[in-house]
Amino acid sequence: MILPIVAYGDPVLRKKAGDVAKDYPKLSELIENMWATMYNASGVGLAAPQIGLPIRLFVIDATPFADDEELSPEEQNKLKGFKKVFINAKIEDETGEDWAFNEGCLSIPDIREDINRKDTIKITYTDDKFKTHTEVYDGLLARVIQHEYDHIEGVLFTDKLSSLKKRLLKNRLDKISKGKINVDYKMRFPNLKKGR
Ligand SMILES: [Zn+2]
Repeated sequence: MILPIVAYGDPVLRKKAGDVAKDYPKLSELIENMWATMYNASGVGLAAPQIGLPIRLFVIDATPFADDEELSPEEQNKLKGFKKVFINAKIEDETGEDWAFNEGCLSIPDIREDINRKDTIKITYTDDKFKTHTEVYDGLLARVIQHEYDHIEGVLFTDKLSSLKKRLLKNRLDKISKGKINVDYKMRFPNLKKGR
């Protein structure tokens, strides 16, 4: 089932999300719905707060990034078929150089900005069977994980922009929260005016 994606301005996107219990009701159905919702919106990642649930769960399928011809074959292979569920994730460590990448977000349609993040992360999480993993990622995979991880911490990529950039974007962000935007997937807008 495709769920509406929560738009910029909704308080759920600002909450630090809570842990997912092993007996969380209908978890596998929820994860299936998140995949369907993400693919329908042509996203590479989706976090539970983006469908209105303040829980530490996100899904990533980095396969579309493997088509980038500027990447080395080795990097392309790492991205191809990278499809994972992250539950109760904790980034243990972020290391390496900052680098910029042009990010976007399904909750903030039509806005893309260059965002600086560190190159390498070490992350501990459980999969959908609640088996714990600790893994190290770099490059684009680290980037996608950092973006989704921010969502479960209540952080959006626009928070990382300079104050000048934020001021320049304010009107566009206000419009998004009011639903004054054309988007080809289902969304829920926090400040939608009634009767429009
Ligand atoms: Zn996002």
